[in-house]
Amino acid sequence: MERNFEWQNKADIKSLTLSELTEQLVALGQPKFRGKQIYSWLHEKRVKSFDEMTNLSAALREDLSKRYYINQLSVIKKLVSKLDGTQKYLLRLKDNNCVEAVLMKYRYGNSICISTQVGCRMGCKFCASTLAGLVRSLEPSEMLDEIYTVTEESGQRVSNVVLMGIGEPFDNYDNVMKFLDILSSPEGYNLSLRHLSLSTCGLVDRIYELAEKKTGLTLSISLHAPNDEIRSQTMPINKRYPIDELLKACRYYFKTTGRRISFEYALIEGVNDEIRHANELADRLKGMSAHVNLIPVNPVKERGFKRGSRQRIEAFQKALEARGVNATVRRELGADINAACGQLRREYDQQRQEEEKQ
Ligand code: SAH
Repeated sequence: MERNFEWQNKADIKSLTLSELTEQLVALGQPKFRGKQIYSWLHEKRVKSFDEMTNLSAALREDLSKRYYINQLSVIKKLVSKLDGTQKYLLRLKDNNCVEAVLMKYRYGNSICISTQVGCRMGCKFCASTLAGLVRSLEPSEMLDEIYTVTEESGQRVSNVVLMGIGEPFDNYDNVMKFLDILSSPEGYNLSLRHLSLSTCGLVDRIYELAEKKTGLTLSISLHAPNDEIRSQTMPINKRYPIDELLKACRYYFKTTGRRISFEYALIEGVNDEIRHANELADRLKGMSAHVNLIPVNPVKERGFKRGSRQRIEAFQKALEARGVNATVRRELGADINAACGQLRREYDQQRQEEEKQ
């Protein structure tokens, strides 16, 4: 198995924002423009070694390689859907943990769904990513490298990014903010944050914090229930931040940023998919400029939740629309490659544990 411990006593240069990098280089006696030069090697040209930074002196390259490492991910597995071309990647991190990223092709461009943590501690009952808890949060460099690696492997630039893979982005807030800063920087990948969505199970304090930053990103709220009783049963976070508080924060986010909120609602048969649930949800969202994304739940074998019939799902959608709430049913992509979040990593980890026992 590939193991590289070089990173353990060096600093992670790819996680530094342009101003942090410039500051550190100036402290090493370098001119100010050096920061931009190196940053562009890392994030625009995306080189993998200091030796490739050909406009730096050999002495500086040598010095940098003693102080810093350049993070990289390797592809453990790549699955391509025969149905729609969706590509799913299982990626190895420097410490041998792994995460998933999914590349989806739409008419308007490529969209990538990335992970923000190894595992998750939010405990949502329908989700595979949280079954084994949280291992650790990802560094900014690791989130960037999900995008850089998939861009390189697929030969395609990504125009939309969604933070909807493994992990809770608001449980890794500082690193996610740095990641956004670097990803959107003109000297780097240069992605406008209007083309990025962040999905959260609802850490209310962070919603207020993010609103103040006016990043332009789209906030997606994993709501999944019309009332506290059902939501607290399926999503433990609801006990800390009940629906009224969550929606109040969402209204504030919209008022402050002008960005419409998107609500995710996974339909689970017999749990939250009755017409009365749709009506209750519509009443709660009244007056909000909201969009509801209905997702037929992905059955996770350890969880035992079922999805309802096509007719049941459409009836739910119609009931919302009849009460003036904009709702769409999410088109399923990569159905043949197990693209549901967290399942590939889980299978791989289980297999690895079996092998270690033998
Ligand atoms: N922690 C963040 C982002 C990761 S989960 C969040 O909670 O939003 C990405 C989305 O997939 C969330 O809306 C989550 O609730 C949903 N999800 C998780 N497991 C699912 C499943 N089995 N079926 C359908 N959606 C699921």
